[in-house]
Amino acid sequence: MPSVSSTSPIETDALIIGAGPVGLFQVFELGLLGIRAHVLDVLPHAGGQCAALYGDKPIYDIPGIPRCTGHELTQRLLQQAAPFAPTFHFQQLVSQLDRMEDGRWQVHTQHGLHFLARTVFIAAGVGAFLPKAPKIEGSESLSHAQWHYQLGSAADYAGHHVLVWGDTDAALEAALALSPSGSHAARSVTLLHRRDVFQALPETVARFRHAVAAGSVQLCIGQPLRVQTDGSRITALDIATPEGTTVLQPCDTVLVLQGLSPKLGPVADWGLAMERKTLSVDTESFATSERGIFAVGDINTYPGKKKLILCGFHEATLAAFAAAHYLHPEQKTPLQYTTSSTLLQQRLDVL
Ligand SMILES: Cc1cc2nc3c(=O)[nH]c(=O)nc-3n(C[C@H](O)[C@H](O)[C@H](O)COP(=O)(O)OP(=O)(O)OC[C@H]3O[C@@H](n4cnc5c(N)ncnc54)[C@H](O)[C@@H]3O)c2cc1C
Repeated sequence: MPSVSSTSPIETDALIIGAGPVGLFQVFELGLLGIRAHVLDVLPHAGGQCAALYGDKPIYDIPGIPRCTGHELTQRLLQQAAPFAPTFHFQQLVSQLDRMEDGRWQVHTQHGLHFLARTVFIAAGVGAFLPKAPKIEGSESLSHAQWHYQLGSAADYAGHHVLVWGDTDAALEAALALSPSGSHAARSVTLLHRRDVFQALPETVARFRHAVAAGSVQLCIGQPLRVQTDGSRITALDIATPEGTTVLQPCDTVLVLQGLSPKLGPVADWGLAMERKTLSVDTESFATSERGIFAVGDINTYPGKKKLILCGFHEATLAAFAAAHYLHPEQKTPLQYTTSSTLLQQRLDVL
């Protein structure tokens, strides 16, 4: 599926904020009605909570699928949406949403993308998944080149002594990637965690332990206390060990991978009617308080709301019909069945 990056305004009939399960199904429902969509997410991949929080756990309450993991559901939704060729823009935090005089919505991301959208679908779930960013004494004044929250390009680490702080799957995978045989080989790599037990998948832990035993990754057990610098650059971290001593761990680059946490952040600043950090919607159309903006999935609220994936799918369906009417008030949008409608089958590319 296409993924683009540009700084010029992108004009679209539909823009979906959030590539979680409901945002992905919104692509499908819009596509059936002949509406193409751009999809934005701050994460580097689709799936929202299903991928970020429980990718390998089974889900049992998706209609017609007795059991599938979060990752499998994401793949199935991507496959189902594929005929409608959505354009995904990952690692883009939507920061601004403003109405234009012509009724369109101007959307900006923190990384400089700019859209003019006739309709916007907020499928932002419980908020944007951003890296947890613990601070330690001295880390505030460091540049992004020395203190990272995600694995950058291989060139960022070549020749560096890297300290990876975390015990998630992403942390262990990054340490392996930074080892001499990895894709991002650094001069040396040390993984720092407060105890010798990790949250990562057993298979990842096994590969990591093998690399530690082989000496290609160092393991340091303890809690970071403060950053040591030569004035501008990191030279080491002071680490409190479980034995009650303080040791100096040399490094010149720190990669903090402590997991993700959702931040409602920008959604609350867009002037839309809200109730308890969720967007109020009309249950006939899933329209918000602003014309042309719809809210579906965990981000919305209405009497009887249940934060379940299947409820989000229903909401996306009604929102798509409402958007079709909003975009083309002169046209009727009759209900058609995928089993029997030639038009829908043409759009699905199954004829
Ligand atoms: C542990 C766990 C188990 C669960 N099990 C089940 C289950 O068995 N069955 C079930 O039905 N439900 C289950 N749920 C709930 C289910 O995951 C949610 O209902 C579902 O993920 C909601 O989908 P969504 O698309 O609305 O939002 P999300 O999945 O939260 O996706 C929203 C996406 O929007 C992005 N986003 C938000 N704001 C911005 C922004 N400003 N800019 C860019 N991107 C942004 C986020 O990064 C995220 O990727 C479970 C939840 C958890 C935590």
